[in-house]
Amino acid sequence: MISPVLTHHLPTMNTHLAGWMDAGQLPGAMLLSFPKGSGETEATQYLTSFMLCEHATKLNIETDQDSLFGGGSEPLVPIVSPALTPCAKCYQCTTIASGQNVDMTVIRAESEDASRSGTLKIEDLEPIRASMGFRPHQARFRVFVILGAETLTPTAANSLLKILEEPPSSWKFILTTSDASLILPTIVSRCQRMRFKPLTSSIINSALHAQDISLERRQLTSKLSQGNLDRALFLTGEEIWKKRALLGQFLSKPESVLNDLIEWAAKDHTSFSALIDQWEFLIWDLSMKLSLVHHEFENSDLKSSLELWLNKSLKQNPNRNYWLSKIQIALDSTAQVRQRMQAPLNKKLLAQEMLIPWLSVLN
Ligand SMILES: [Zn+2]
Repeated sequence: MISPVLTHHLPTMNTHLAGWMDAGQLPGAMLLSFPKGSGETEATQYLTSFMLCEHATKLNIETDQDSLFGGGSEPLVPIVSPALTPCAKCYQCTTIASGQNVDMTVIRAESEDASRSGTLKIEDLEPIRASMGFRPHQARFRVFVILGAETLTPTAANSLLKILEEPPSSWKFILTTSDASLILPTIVSRCQRMRFKPLTSSIINSALHAQDISLERRQLTSKLSQGNLDRALFLTGEEIWKKRALLGQFLSKPESVLNDLIEWAAKDHTSFSALIDQWEFLIWDLSMKLSLVHHEFENSDLKSSLELWLNKSLKQNPNRNYWLSKIQIALDSTAQVRQRMQAPLNKKLLAQEMLIPWLSVLN
């Protein structure tokens, strides 16, 4: 069964695949632009399956005889898939799906912090250079996938450019990026571009459904994740839901959990941004309720904490605009902290800077 994420991206890919079928030619390099965390792995696997699937018919696609000196084997038969859909059953398709295909190499930047990608250095491209001069092992093409191509260091980018200038014709490159403006224009100009649309919250919801995640978590995280499936999957984790309970307590007795929240945020970048995202979503809910009496809280799991704060505050001062302007001041300082979150600053101090302005709103 095709996943919801892939279903969402198929129209984008099929337009290009149909064009290549008509032309009887596959591009040597393609550049896929994705909003962060929106299914690049699935899309690159699909495109690779399209190129390598064994259930294919002959088309006039030129392949190499020239630049490779592997020699000895039968000349490659120029082939692409007969339909737009790879079979998903053959040896090539199944090994691609399980990440075991010897002719598909995926290169990605490793980072200690999962929410931030590191850089792609020249040594990361070693698998490409080591394959120079060799034919594909079993498939008709050798496919190199470079995830997050915007993170290539200048040296690595130049080295890749040299290969892209004269690639062996049985080699195919799939580059992905969340920001093509950060890639060397000379690399971009050698690639066919494919621009993918952001995932909608209903696609995220369906993808989470397929992962067997409860309805309440699904509904909240699909709203919170802003089209980023990786983030959505992270937000459905147990730890996050425990921390959400702390946010509920922060609404009613902020001092009692202040230190726990600071500790959590200071742990790593991912936790810090999860804290800010969730807090902003809660505050958005409160602001909506203050501006429109008929607003239904979307943070349904923390509804009672939100109502408690609202009733207590309106008893203290029934002027809703008074509370809205107080909230705005604290929100501005949260937004400033978000901007500085990427900088190498002391995360504990930064978390204090974010949370302390809220004490005067909440108390
Ligand atoms: Zn197949």
